[in-house]
Amino acid sequence: MTVTIAKVQAFAIRSDLVGGTPRTPARRPPWTADAEVAGPMSGYPRYKKLRAAWRPSWPAVGCLATASDGSWGFGVSRYGAPVIETINGHLGPLLVDEPAMATEKLWDMMVRMASPYGAPGLGAYAISAIDLALWDLKGKLLSRPVYEIIGGPSRPHIECYATGGDTDWHMELGFRATKYPCPHGPADGIAGLEANEAAVARMRETAGPHSEIMLDCWMAFDVEYAVRLADRLRPYRLRWIEDCLMPEDMEGLASLRARLPWMGLASGEHWYMPQPFATAASRRLVDVLQPDIGWVGGLTACLRVAAIADAAGIEVIPHAGMNTPYGQHFGLAAPCSRWGEYFLGSAPGIPLEETRLFPGMAVPVDGRLVPSDAPGFGLGATLDDIAAMRV
Ligand SMILES: [Mg+2]
Repeated sequence: MTVTIAKVQAFAIRSDLVGGTPRTPARRPPWTADAEVAGPMSGYPRYKKLRAAWRPSWPAVGCLATASDGSWGFGVSRYGAPVIETINGHLGPLLVDEPAMATEKLWDMMVRMASPYGAPGLGAYAISAIDLALWDLKGKLLSRPVYEIIGGPSRPHIECYATGGDTDWHMELGFRATKYPCPHGPADGIAGLEANEAAVARMRETAGPHSEIMLDCWMAFDVEYAVRLADRLRPYRLRWIEDCLMPEDMEGLASLRARLPWMGLASGEHWYMPQPFATAASRRLVDVLQPDIGWVGGLTACLRVAAIADAAGIEVIPHAGMNTPYGQHFGLAAPCSRWGEYFLGSAPGIPLEETRLFPGMAVPVDGRLVPSDAPGFGLGATLDDIAAMRV
């Protein structure tokens, strides 16, 4: 008998993606405590210093999909109230009585139902949470890990790079690749350019000559600034610079590509639905596509991005993919995803296993990660655990 969807329910959960209070004392505060990171608001002095000053304080979103046989799956996304309302007040109820295994059909229905207000943007966060819950449910119904259902494993483990400002801690943990959040943008002028170069020089010095290093520019630049900075940074052999421009600026990206043919370019964490990835791949605007599985439209969207990337011979390295079991399963399965990103915002000295979101979630060991092979995404969470995440 076909298992159908009985209920889809979203609610607010803790927003920090850090599981509980670490037992081990920190050696020093993490870079996230006070480091300035360049971004789209860096030109406005009132909101320049800290991203938290202008970003919404909405909690994260949990989504529970329950099937007619009582099985359930759990997904997460971001941006609290509007995303919760999109799920509970619109998309969720319209999926009730649909076949629970039909993830392609259900994703297509959600994208079409969201089209009057826009599936990209906040709509994509809601669709992601539901889609991830449905894939977790599918894995549990089949009693297999999701990475097997989508055709993996493609590799025995995932090689991870660390993102954050504590480069020495990344190296101590055994990562062989590290990415630094760029501190300055065009508003800081020539002094900012020099300080950015000094930061990259320090990163190269700390990482050593045999590690890969990257720079995350988080929508902070324009084309002119990105070209000037990349030119200065050429001696440091960066593997890529990331998200230099506002996410919608595809023509700017084309210009950047043309002016920096030798520089690795990455983007995509703020692209929603597969279409911008298809545009970027067909025009070869970037070398690395970076969908976020919890933002772009879920695993179903990520699999479409992977198909696009694979056909174009481009890599997919999902944004913060190693920070959730969802990204971990995609990373183990997709042949075109040869690295995983692990965002490291916790303090140096605290073991990574003390900072995870779900009890069953794997963390990088010596820079490599092997996801849980438990059914679904292997969250290792009971309904009581999920209830305890609610805020
Ligand atoms: Mg990034």
